[in-house]
Amino acid sequence: MAPRHPTTDQPVADLAIVGATALVGTPAIGVDGLAEFAASTTIEITDGAITWIGPSADARPSAREVIDANGLVAMPGLINTHCHAAMTFLRGVAEDVPIANWFNDYIWPMEVNVGGRDVYIGTMVAAAEMIESGITSFADHYFFMDEAARAVEKSGMRANLGSAFFSSQGNEGLAHSVEFAEAWHGRANGRITTSIAPHAPYTCNDDDLRGAADAARRLGVRVHIHAAEDMHQTQLGVDGRGITPIQVLAETGVLDAGVIIAHGNGIVDADIELLATHRDRVGVTHGPKGYLKYALGPLTPIRGLLAAGVPVGYCTDGAASNSTLDVFENMRITAITQKHAANDATWFRSGTALQLAGSGAAAVIGQPGMIGELRVGARADVILVDVSGFHCQPLHDLAATLVYCVQASDVRTTIVDGNVLMRDRRLTTIDREALLTEFRQRASALTDRSHGRTIQDYTT
Ligand SMILES: [Zn+2]
Repeated sequence: MAPRHPTTDQPVADLAIVGATALVGTPAIGVDGLAEFAASTTIEITDGAITWIGPSADARPSAREVIDANGLVAMPGLINTHCHAAMTFLRGVAEDVPIANWFNDYIWPMEVNVGGRDVYIGTMVAAAEMIESGITSFADHYFFMDEAARAVEKSGMRANLGSAFFSSQGNEGLAHSVEFAEAWHGRANGRITTSIAPHAPYTCNDDDLRGAADAARRLGVRVHIHAAEDMHQTQLGVDGRGITPIQVLAETGVLDAGVIIAHGNGIVDADIELLATHRDRVGVTHGPKGYLKYALGPLTPIRGLLAAGVPVGYCTDGAASNSTLDVFENMRITAITQKHAANDATWFRSGTALQLAGSGAAAVIGQPGMIGELRVGARADVILVDVSGFHCQPLHDLAATLVYCVQASDVRTTIVDGNVLMRDRRLTTIDREALLTEFRQRASALTDRSHGRTIQDYTT
């Protein structure tokens, strides 16, 4: 890489990160290889994009803002591939219950109470938590999404947003999801992208799935849907209509249109073949903390998916099931459980774990090359991680440190689209006290179930 020698006094960049140890490469999908780091590296950012990466000794950073990252690891901002951000309100309301009770007795009766302002406030709290945890981008699937989009605009995060619907809403559900996707795609300087968001094959009929696929193709966006969430759901599909939920997505054109699939624990071998033929436009989201808590299983067949070239990324789902919006935690649990499930301690090396967090997750949400990698031309979504803590030292294997040792609170600085959203643990776009005050005030009203109504039934 050529040294930089600015010839004028004008700043050559908006922002320069100097002296970082940078995660500059992870293995290709399906290759269980090593991560690549570059010591003492400078990353220059202009107009929201990475414009130069190279040895700090070669660079003469002349930037409007310089961040000294000596002793810090620079890595691509984490991508949360499936979330219900506003569900931060319901964190902890339904613990130690089976999944059917979780939906029918708690979540769906409580969600009757949710309004637009709640979604704005709940999404802002989620954004604050995610920025603090090094997440720069999330794919969201919920209701009142105009308000979620406003929270994304205000917080400075990047998000792919889908307005969720059930077929029990009649034609209006799909129509509104399409309207939202059309209205918001590309907004907030391109930080907001959208998807069409049917809830699941068991709550949406084939006509709605076909309609979602057609709209996604027309708008150039993806479908975002829950499917094959566990083997029980897959078995019910096979018993009821003779095909798996993934086969339903194939038959209705959803795979062809491109789709973010949450969560895929019930994906079987025949499904992997179908997904492989659409691997340039489908991906699977994986959030094992929730699956383990709610005893859903077996775990997503990640080994088979990666071998077939199907991208996989981590997700936190909503805080009501996952408790925290922490991709580091889900990465760690994934690595541990994948080794355990395969009975093979040599599989799912740290390089692979980091691939799922970056380029793999970017591919899942349809933004490969644009985010999830530190490379020239990518959008500047970067986090700086402090690995000086006792729980990280010494640094014999930095990739393993990031996977097995780092805590979300070790993230010092979070940058999205070139904007610093957290500087040395201080949020720059969110007023913490004001937000928490309104959030706590609203939380108790939302958990009232005395009205006896529900937005949907979990009948599988
Ligand atoms: Zn979900």
